[in-house]
Amino acid sequence: MADLSTPLGKVIGQPSASPLAKYRGIHTVGDLLDFVPRRYLEPGRLTDLSRLVEGEDVTIVARVDRATTRPMRQRKGRMLNATITDGTRELDLTFFSAYGHEGRLVPGALGLFAGTVSRYHQTWQLTHPDYQLFTTQEQEAAVEQYTGSLIPIYLAAGKQMPSWKVRNVAQIVLGSLREVPDHVPPDVRRDRGLVDLASMYRLLHQPSTDKDVSRARHRRRYDEAFAVQTVLAQRRMAGEALHTTPRLARQGGLLEAFDARMPFELTAGQQEVGAEIARDLAREHPMHRLLQGEVGSGKTVVALRAMLSVIDSGGQAALLAPTEVLAAQHLRSITSMLGDLAEGGLLGGSEIGTRVVLLTGSQPAGARRRSLLDAASGDAGIVIGTHALIQEHVQFFDLGLVVVDEQHRFGVEQRDALRGKGRQPPHVLVMTATPIPRTVAMTVFGDMETSTLTELPAGRSPIATHVVGNPRWFQRTWERVAEEVRSGHQAYVVCPRIGDSDPSPAPGAGQREPGTAAGDWSDEDLEVTFEADDLAQPSTRVLRSVLEMEAELRRNLALAGLRISILHGRMAADDKDEVMRAFAAGTIDVLVSTTVIEVGVDVANATVMVIMDADRFGISQLHQLRGRVGRGVSPGLCLLVTETESELGQQRLLSVAATNDGFTLARLDLEQRREGDVLGAAQSGGRSQLRLLRLLRDEDLILAAREDAFAIVAADPDLDQHPALRALIASALDDEQAAYLERG
Ligand code: ADP
Ligand code: MG
Repeated sequence: MADLSTPLGKVIGQPSASPLAKYRGIHTVGDLLDFVPRRYLEPGRLTDLSRLVEGEDVTIVARVDRATTRPMRQRKGRMLNATITDGTRELDLTFFSAYGHEGRLVPGALGLFAGTVSRYHQTWQLTHPDYQLFTTQEQEAAVEQYTGSLIPIYLAAGKQMPSWKVRNVAQIVLGSLREVPDHVPPDVRRDRGLVDLASMYRLLHQPSTDKDVSRARHRRRYDEAFAVQTVLAQRRMAGEALHTTPRLARQGGLLEAFDARMPFELTAGQQEVGAEIARDLAREHPMHRLLQGEVGSGKTVVALRAMLSVIDSGGQAALLAPTEVLAAQHLRSITSMLGDLAEGGLLGGSEIGTRVVLLTGSQPAGARRRSLLDAASGDAGIVIGTHALIQEHVQFFDLGLVVVDEQHRFGVEQRDALRGKGRQPPHVLVMTATPIPRTVAMTVFGDMETSTLTELPAGRSPIATHVVGNPRWFQRTWERVAEEVRSGHQAYVVCPRIGDSDPSPAPGAGQREPGTAAGDWSDEDLEVTFEADDLAQPSTRVLRSVLEMEAELRRNLALAGLRISILHGRMAADDKDEVMRAFAAGTIDVLVSTTVIEVGVDVANATVMVIMDADRFGISQLHQLRGRVGRGVSPGLCLLVTETESELGQQRLLSVAATNDGFTLARLDLEQRREGDVLGAAQSGGRSQLRLLRLLRDEDLILAAREDAFAIVAADPDLDQHPALRALIASALDDEQAAYLERG
């Protein structure tokens, strides 16, 4: 008898086990049972042959219509041609040796055929397919097996292990399976109408009806959500068990002084969230809060006020930004908001003031050393930086609060690394402008409390968005830009590429440091996040680049005399900083850039944005980008320029133009991506077990699993009463760890 951890070879013999290990990484009984069929066929129903696709691997049910053999010209022996049919259409089978097939592939024989579809002289073919007949003498047992049930179709494990051999192996394994410990407690199964684990495996590998299959699949999806939520519940509990210093603003302190000089009223939302955060900071357990808010909703002020109360209580705050451009902008805007409050220790500075310093990977050594010293001595109350802040030799005197801006660029691991820098666990505030649908928030950020800023500060003007899909209107686009500039405003032009041919980032400019999730970084030559294979027709068009665009605009008479500059991730940090400064100061009229300006850049005087090859960007990304304009009192305008012919591509752009509601767009984005992308590298990498979870469709299921998992963990934090669940979590975390290490 076997259990889930029994090596497969012990149950089915090494010759059968080897190809499974080699081609599919299946080593144990449990691995095999989790290797679930991709589809199910009905033995009585012939497969529709009208939908064959060249090059596709198929397994089909069909009947032999006719078969002929003939001698071969060049070699001895005879070849066999058979034609199988679904009753309407036909498919040719070719065997270069008739031997062993002749007596079996006779007219009327019914069976399963598997192979790669090819096309030859107008006919569909399978060359040397594997097959299993239902009707021949030697396969009588097969008929028996299949009668009245569905035929599970598996991925083959190499030539020796076609689908039905995998199926036979699965049957043997099921037959030898001892009782399977179930990680979902019986009362939960009863309440949620879930089948037990052993039954789930049986229904997956030997179903009789479609209903069996859907019950089994339902249980599998629940299991995924349940495992994730159990981990999150444990993380939440572990956070609750930590002790730290409460951080309260003091009377006559920095926060009070700042509030008194703030140039605007906080919105109701900002006040509410501010109060939530103040309550969190007053507790003896570290805060772990996610702050969501549309672009321009004013998250920075909320974070700054939290930082000031931490400084008031003698601690320091770190602000982590995803790019150097954004870190530098935060430094500028925070120092200017604080005024002389940011000149602590300097002559003429405020008495209660503090110091704000910058720490980034490409800083000159001297400046960096000073920042490191200020952080370590405690002279700097606020340390703003990029990934460089996470590096090990950065020390703080008393780190009380970590603010992570624009979370979607940071993984869980990086958050954890920063949390480890305090003498005591610091409070953590994560901010994101990407509206996160509820189910995603519950899974990716499910171990955090969440706050949401829904309103924009008063006086904001709406952004109008238009799709420019006709080349006749392209010149009009540039005239429109010129008009904005002439009326005293500024413009962004965003391109998907940088345009120099060297694909490797220049030293110092590349900020992709170890641990950054690969593939989501904007400082690459190709800066689009949208994948070509999501498009109806992958395009071979050459995409617009910053460098070409700059040259083109300089030649364009409509823009004559305008001050045009460029910005991209491969420029040196000083140059980037200088360009952003100049743009903020209004001495650049048109900024041609890549998506480095995507997150958080705030120049209120910029009123128009032109996005080139807009079809190559994701929906949410376009929404983020256009949030850069219309930040002041003048209305914003966003022009989505595209040459795509794809219906889907145009449709996506029209939906971005149709609404300014980030949540609607985030949902749309999610619906259009294939599962797996959602939580892929861009989020937190290692959580690959989430792949199956269809985050929108399974909302109810995720809610249920979350409720169950949190109840179980609350009653039994170490899962002593739930050994099967504990084992499952441990092995899932091992996999995650391994995946993380592999990524480096
Ligand atoms: P985001 O949430 O996108 O990070 P910011 O924090 O950058 O937004 O804020 C956008 C702009 O709005 C900034 O210039 C900021 O000073 C301003 N702002 C923030 N709160 C208010 C408010 N309550 N009233 C008016 N302007 C505000
Ligand atoms: Mg921001």
